[in-house]
Amino acid sequence: MGDGLMKQLPRFSIGVGDRFAHQAKAQLAACIKAKEAGLEVVPVWNKSNREHNIIGSEPSQTRKAADAAVKELGWSAPYYLDADHINLNTVDRFLAPCDFFTLDVADMIGKPADAADVKAFVSRHPELIGTVTIPGIAEPFKTDEAFVTKIANKFLAAVQDAGRIYRFLVEKKGAENFVPEVSMDETDSPQTPVELLIILAAVADEKIPIQTIAPKFTGRFNKGVDYVGDVAQFAREFREDIAAIAFAVKTYGLPANLKLSVHSGSDKFSIYKSIHDAVTSTGAGVHLKTAGTTWLEELIGLAEAGGQGLEIAKEVYREAYGHREELCAPYATVIDIDPSKLPTPEAVNGWTSEQYVSALRHDQSNPAYNPSLRQLLHVGFKVAAKMGDRYLKALESNEESVARNVTTNLFDRHIRPVFLGR
Ligand SMILES: [Zn+2]
Repeated sequence: MGDGLMKQLPRFSIGVGDRFAHQAKAQLAACIKAKEAGLEVVPVWNKSNREHNIIGSEPSQTRKAADAAVKELGWSAPYYLDADHINLNTVDRFLAPCDFFTLDVADMIGKPADAADVKAFVSRHPELIGTVTIPGIAEPFKTDEAFVTKIANKFLAAVQDAGRIYRFLVEKKGAENFVPEVSMDETDSPQTPVELLIILAAVADEKIPIQTIAPKFTGRFNKGVDYVGDVAQFAREFREDIAAIAFAVKTYGLPANLKLSVHSGSDKFSIYKSIHDAVTSTGAGVHLKTAGTTWLEELIGLAEAGGQGLEIAKEVYREAYGHREELCAPYATVIDIDPSKLPTPEAVNGWTSEQYVSALRHDQSNPAYNPSLRQLLHVGFKVAAKMGDRYLKALESNEESVARNVTTNLFDRHIRPVFLGR
């Protein structure tokens, strides 16, 4: 596996989402700032099937926007286009434009695998049974056959499914032309490091040369707001996951650049130091995935510009508020909105630029910051999609203000703490 011809994802990468295909340049500008600060952080433009469906866009448009930005800004390091959370039913339109595929098998977790396959897996992996010592993890794990069988039962069908998607992609694109990631984040319970190791053994058995894996971490990763959970426990698990990956790379011959992918990674300010410290002290890589945070910066940029930009931002809030139940439903498990904290559209109508920006911008030191409003707008991009050209024209006529906010958010609030550690 990892024959050297494969596309190699560099050590540090950042997933960026560009819902309306207008911010690729502003996003890339943040990676250029990182380069100027001495660190290569490569962009991976991601947009899920769900987002394309809600907006009515095509992956080929994201490709066009990314290529144009790269050309215009003279970016010479790698960059990728992520077919985000796809499966065999949804992959088709992503095949040509994408060179990074997030194989989403969360739905298969817990579906029992073929009993004979589980048995074969367990007997193929005696090293997972008994005392499992992973360098970098102080306490060895104690497991037995029943435990490994239980975990295999939980994950094997999902990994086999990933194998089917992977082989389909190899047939359509050629193994050397894309980076595969396996994601298991959109599921109920977090995976422990030993579960991760068992999953990686199964991934290696399926001969999927994954370069990133997105487990579900402990704590809540709500869209566009800070991490909610035990930061110390997250830090410990993150380090143990890194150790489990390094061990799996050695033991199972997975690609040497295999690294953790942190999904819903934007705005998780309270865990960024843990991530930075862990990758710095171990030499591991990390993929930090952000997406909707950029769309919120579009709104902030419009509101900050005042005039008609501010009016559009208010209109988005008014419509989002009016349709809040419908907008929140698909994201119910990844948002925590307190309805009593949502201002009425009438109140927002009277706001100045500064009031709107203060409520929306993720600045926890500002008493006017309102995470409920922020989360509602995060899932409210459908409203802007419905505005169509009117919204896109507003982005274009306020480009300076919008781009400045998009770049600053990605660089100062994400790239800086996670990758540069300052
Ligand atoms: Zn995800």
